[in-house]
Amino acid sequence: MKVFKFGGASVKDAQSVRNAIRILERYGDEPLVVVLSAMGKSTNALENIAQQSFTGKDFSETLENFKEEQCVIARELIPETAQNNILPEIEKLFIRLDDALSKRADFDDFDAFYDDIIPFGELLSTQIVHQYLNFCGKENGLISALDWVKTDAYFRFAKVDMEQSSKTLREKIAKNGDKKLFLTQGFIGATDDGQTTTLGREGSDYTAALAGAFLGAESVTIWKDVPGLLNADPARMENLQKIDKLSYREAIELAYYGAKIIHPKTIKPLENSSIPLYIRSFINPENDGTLICRDDGEGETDVPFFIFYEDQVLVTFSVKDMSFVTEDSLHHIFGALNRLRIRVHLMQISAVSFSICIDDDKTRLNRLFRTLQNDYTIKYNDGLELVTIRHHHHINVDDFLEGVEILLEQRSRVTAQFVIRR
Ligand code: ASP
Ligand code: MG
Repeated sequence: MKVFKFGGASVKDAQSVRNAIRILERYGDEPLVVVLSAMGKSTNALENIAQQSFTGKDFSETLENFKEEQCVIARELIPETAQNNILPEIEKLFIRLDDALSKRADFDDFDAFYDDIIPFGELLSTQIVHQYLNFCGKENGLISALDWVKTDAYFRFAKVDMEQSSKTLREKIAKNGDKKLFLTQGFIGATDDGQTTTLGREGSDYTAALAGAFLGAESVTIWKDVPGLLNADPARMENLQKIDKLSYREAIELAYYGAKIIHPKTIKPLENSSIPLYIRSFINPENDGTLICRDDGEGETDVPFFIFYEDQVLVTFSVKDMSFVTEDSLHHIFGALNRLRIRVHLMQISAVSFSICIDDDKTRLNRLFRTLQNDYTIKYNDGLELVTIRHHHHINVDDFLEGVEILLEQRSRVTAQFVIRR
């Protein structure tokens, strides 16, 4: 069994969907589990709809455009004259989405409402691909992630119950023992009592890793619009190098520092079961891409990696009475960060202050400030970027950062990090 993950860009329109199916066909009758994201920028569209609806704005146009996009893809894939359920199935999902949106008043908490709305992107993409495969005569089973990805109710960053999810997925696959090809949604799950949840943006990679680990897959492959893992985001830099192979450990480091190509949670489940992870191009599927696997002692790549985290805030907590920052105060601050599931990308302690670099998520920031403002003086700078350079000894960092304002910097032997303003 192999697990494949196709992200939004790989299924952004009818032509891309056909291309993805051609990739599946290269694997003949091999057993495959395919994890799909929402098509193109569907998740962003749904975020806008959820936001507009929650704040009482008119979302009808955004919703209409979103629906039209989905139907265009469906119509381009399957002629309307053909015997097929694609449009009725899409219609059913939109009736459910309308119904969910009409229940806005039941929600005080935006995050819970968000998780009620956002999964429709993945529900639509899997339904469209399922119907298209049926139309092409390719037998396949659609297993809903809402049935097998069991989570807690921490909306937008739900935690997966490994044991329950693993058991359920294996049962669902076994029940369909005659089928070779399965589709499921990435990024979404549900609580025991059926409330839908999401696992954090770009979470489909993580779902694919979980499916791979639960099924003891031979490998997991993420099909991307890049030739493999590059040493920086091609949207940010030119003349990049493709990495052929790297260890789980180095991959975890890169993901931790914000390399967008791998969701930070993806590596651990694979590492635990020694399942190789491939990152390959859906544009050139015959090429090898990048292999992430157990360190085979052949030596790690020391190509410099450049990682950019945008929309960062640097928050500084100072102790009000001029006493020192103590283990107690750190414990207190980290308790709040942990409860709000805020990930610290960089931190620095001085005698009377403690600074952290985190994502600029206004809702979470406000909650954090409210929780801690009685005990600390809190100041912050926003509009920042965190630049991380792995293996920085190969480059001239000063030239690289010429002309930018550096608010904080930290260097270790392998990694240099800079909180900057451009
Ligand atoms: N569709 C979700 C997102 O855009 C999840 C994913 O693509 O991994 O974040
Ligand atoms: Mg994606």
